[in-house]
Amino acid sequence: MNHLKKPVLPIVLLVILVTFGIIGARFFYDQPITGAPPYGESEEDAPALGELDWLRDWKRPDGPARVGVQIGHLNNEDAPEEQKRLRNNGGATGGGYTEVEVNAAVAEELKRLLASEGVLVDLLPTTIPPDYWADVFVSVHTDGNTNPTVSGFKIASSWRDLTGTARELVAILESSYQEATRFPKDPNISRNMRGYYAFSWWRYEHAIHPKTTAAIVEMGFITNPGDRKILVGSPEIPARGLADGVLKYLRSQNLLED
Ligand SMILES: [Zn+2]
Repeated sequence: MNHLKKPVLPIVLLVILVTFGIIGARFFYDQPITGAPPYGESEEDAPALGELDWLRDWKRPDGPARVGVQIGHLNNEDAPEEQKRLRNNGGATGGGYTEVEVNAAVAEELKRLLASEGVLVDLLPTTIPPDYWADVFVSVHTDGNTNPTVSGFKIASSWRDLTGTARELVAILESSYQEATRFPKDPNISRNMRGYYAFSWWRYEHAIHPKTTAAIVEMGFITNPGDRKILVGSPEIPARGLADGVLKYLRSQNLLED
């Protein structure tokens, strides 16, 4: 057994090194390298709910079900001054394709599917009209990763959902999207998603109205050959998954007839 004692010191040293390595890496990772603020808003920036009494008297405008579909990164170079950091964020690329062309193909098909059910659809670029309201807002994005084996979709709502229905929308979308695409669900919802600029009505003029039920969808990875095959080759599949979810949600809220 004596020979087992000898490696104890090197092992202790190794553990210490690894521990400090992890702490150091985390510290470094958390620091914005450029000094610019991170892309996503932090949860702490959102206002307390008590400050929002003025919303109590809000009433939905009359009219048919209305859905805003944002083509992620479209015309990002036209972002307003308050969101100028978006101007150099053109989105992910992979396999010779850009995220924005994938997002646009799916969003246009999604618009067609929803409109055929009587929904009023606004296709929106990076710049959201000030105080934009709709029954549902869906921001359509495609993810990227340096590791081409990473695949799957994820859907998130805002840190501050004042509609009370965004989680339900997300749950319905997750289920309909997975059913249509058969993609795995990626659990790595990021701050960039929950703090998405278009959700941050407390900070920006060009953001959704707080009574807009909203979700952001990362449809899959443009850098993964399997995801890309569906997203690029058959955009009607992810579009169908999203349309089914939005329609189901609208019906659950009595905003659309069966
Ligand atoms: Zn994106």
